[in-house]
Amino acid sequence: MKPNPSLADLPLRPELIGEEPYGAPQLDVPVCLNVNENPFPPNAEIAADMAAAITAGATGLNRYPDREATGLRTALATYLGHGLTIENIWAANGSNEVMTHLLGAFGGPGRTLLSFTPTYSMYPEYARNTHTRYVTAPRHDDYSLDADLIGSAIAEHDAGVVIITTPNNPTGTPTALQVIAEVLAHTDAVVVVDEAYQEFSRHPEQTALTLLPRFGNLIVSRTMSKAFALAGGRVGYFAAAPAIVDACRIVRLPYHLSAQTQIVAETALRHADFLLGQVDQLRRTRDEMLVRLPELGVEVIDSDANFCLFGAFADRHDVWQRLLDRGVLIRETGPAGWLRVSVGTPEETETFYTALAEVLEEIR
Ligand SMILES: *Cc1c(COP(=O)(O)O)cnc(C)c1O
Repeated sequence: MKPNPSLADLPLRPELIGEEPYGAPQLDVPVCLNVNENPFPPNAEIAADMAAAITAGATGLNRYPDREATGLRTALATYLGHGLTIENIWAANGSNEVMTHLLGAFGGPGRTLLSFTPTYSMYPEYARNTHTRYVTAPRHDDYSLDADLIGSAIAEHDAGVVIITTPNNPTGTPTALQVIAEVLAHTDAVVVVDEAYQEFSRHPEQTALTLLPRFGNLIVSRTMSKAFALAGGRVGYFAAAPAIVDACRIVRLPYHLSAQTQIVAETALRHADFLLGQVDQLRRTRDEMLVRLPELGVEVIDSDANFCLFGAFADRHDVWQRLLDRGVLIRETGPAGWLRVSVGTPEETETFYTALAEVLEEIR
């Protein structure tokens, strides 16, 4: 082959031809409200604790890390409560690796993953990368789900793996526990409840974790990226029956969680009170946003997460660009004409309102 080939010269898998890498734009702007991060950084004490723990761990870096991430999984079980222990917990480099493990174990050629649109844009990529067929069923007009809709879609597509995202991204819509319980009572498909935003919900205690003792095919997925303010640490995890954890052990790459990742995440969990303490503030700002956006003259979808979907615009890209021109980066995602904005600090969120008011004036 000639030197410096282009993608087209390489024997790429046919299903990857023409695909683009995942990319919310990473732009250096004053106000980043585009990927639902927690806007409050770890404080100086936590940062110093992380640095000290990394320094202490550095002398052991000639050795492979603990393959079982014993300390981290134990700490995650303690954080979740509900009588869970290390055997119930799996952890990996972000929810995206957790999902890849689950599809590596339960998806694959001839198997189908089902989700309910509009929803998280990464799911089709996990399916593609694991050779799993990806199908979707539309949510109701108000973006809600009920057991009939979910059950019929499972039957229609013969789905082996089902993802119920609650609160849903990008709409913020929660799905009631009774709905999830009813679905589980009628299927043996693997049901992943993606609770990436559960800590932000108005009723965080109404979690699918409470259903784990009843249903062996239930997986409750969480992340440290959002409420825990640790997106940069890359730690996602789930709680499920121990056999599901064993299945993930088969497909994970050896030593998939680096020693540094385990150390940083365990340190963050020791500071859970502080890190999660900011969640109340974010919830309040979210509730305000649900009032402020309509006051500015746009429609907003009721949200139980740390973001809001608002619109609808004839040209949403134009609105997105005009906000970016004012130093505010949000996300073009979801149904045509709608935009998603993450909840920032009170100051960032005020800057967003001011910019949006100006933009709306301009395009009126
Ligand atoms: C942000 C998000 C996650 C978490 O992703 P990580 O890979 O853990 O950062 C999971 N699910 C949904 C729906 C999300 O929006």
